[in-house]
Amino acid sequence: MSALLLKNARLDDYPEAQDLLIENGTIAKVAPVGTLSDVPTEDVIDCEGRAVLPGFVETHLHLDKALLDERMPNLAGTLEGAIKVTGALKSRFTMDDVLERSRKVLDMAIAQGTTAIRTQPDVDPIAHTIGADAMLTLRDEYRGMIDLQVVAFPQEGIIKAPGTIEMMEECLRNGADVVGGCTYNEPDVDTCKEHIRQVFDLAEKYDVPVDMHTDFWVDDSDPRYALVEHIADVTIERGMQGRVTLGHMTSLASLSGSHRVEVWDRIKQADLNIVVLPFTDMHLNARNDDHNIRRGVAPVKLMWDVDINVGLSSNNVRNAFTPFGNADLLDVALFMAQVGHMGSPDDFRHLLQTITYSNAKIIGIASGYGVKVGDRADLVVLDAADGPTGLLDRAVRTAVIKGGRVVARTQKSTELFRR
Ligand SMILES: [Zn+2]
Repeated sequence: MSALLLKNARLDDYPEAQDLLIENGTIAKVAPVGTLSDVPTEDVIDCEGRAVLPGFVETHLHLDKALLDERMPNLAGTLEGAIKVTGALKSRFTMDDVLERSRKVLDMAIAQGTTAIRTQPDVDPIAHTIGADAMLTLRDEYRGMIDLQVVAFPQEGIIKAPGTIEMMEECLRNGADVVGGCTYNEPDVDTCKEHIRQVFDLAEKYDVPVDMHTDFWVDDSDPRYALVEHIADVTIERGMQGRVTLGHMTSLASLSGSHRVEVWDRIKQADLNIVVLPFTDMHLNARNDDHNIRRGVAPVKLMWDVDINVGLSSNNVRNAFTPFGNADLLDVALFMAQVGHMGSPDDFRHLLQTITYSNAKIIGIASGYGVKVGDRADLVVLDAADGPTGLLDRAVRTAVIKGGRVVARTQKSTELFRR
């Protein structure tokens, strides 16, 4: 039996610090400090009063396209520019190249406290299935370090890019976990609806969740960016409530009045998950605004107020879509606070809740996720006395534990030389 003792840890639900005993990958006991000290363990970590949170969860991260920024920048700065630049680079992708860049980002994510990632590799006539094949390889290679879910993702569209749906099906046959969609890259609303139909057909055939990129614009004046109610209808018709996730959804920020209330109701009836990707959304949107530049980010606080399940994720790390980032979900959450008018202790706690419990629900791992007895021991120790302080500090992740095993440790210290 493998055992690990986390001593003197600050947990959300306890006023006093606690000791956690982890046995065989599961939290076996939580007890006041000192009361478990005679339990035989192979390993002990003294948290010294630091906050321990469940491991962070990424719902949306394009590992295959990460770290391309130095090869070709997106000078136009638009979504179309990013797709074009990445399309050109993608034509030269090899398996080794994708594996090498993806491993760098996975290692970064693990060190920053992430214990599960849903990744969306491009599947299309340019890169074919190289990205998805690489992700399936990495899912095995990183087992025990981080959980990887693979989405067959049609970045170039489905109707617009013949052959794509067949390649997506091949990926699902080979073990991809989720079927993706990308309506914003189709030419008109009819092709978008056909795209959605084909995605849901595959989801039904392989009994997998749906994870789509949709409504990526600053308003919904173009019907291609006003599909959320249609997707809600299809979700309900197909009985897929709770298993459909929509990324970006930036057009939601433009809704107001009774129309907004109707859209919130449809999202909730279909139990759609909305994933906000603030780095990319703010970077690429509103490029045509020359004054009073809009933020182009979905209204997270408004959605929290009506109990829509909102996720937050990195999306991209240093490429034409997002030329910054280091796969650090605390960084994403703090940026969301700055962009989303969030400054209260409640807001900070809600942001932490989002990158942990809400994101876990979105990728379907909520059962057994947390810091209670019986939960999987996927944990992160922050160099801070509580989560909100850790968020503001973007605190060092002093230890990351996956399935009861320490998978990363980081130490940083500063010495000041006073006069
Ligand atoms: Zn994306």
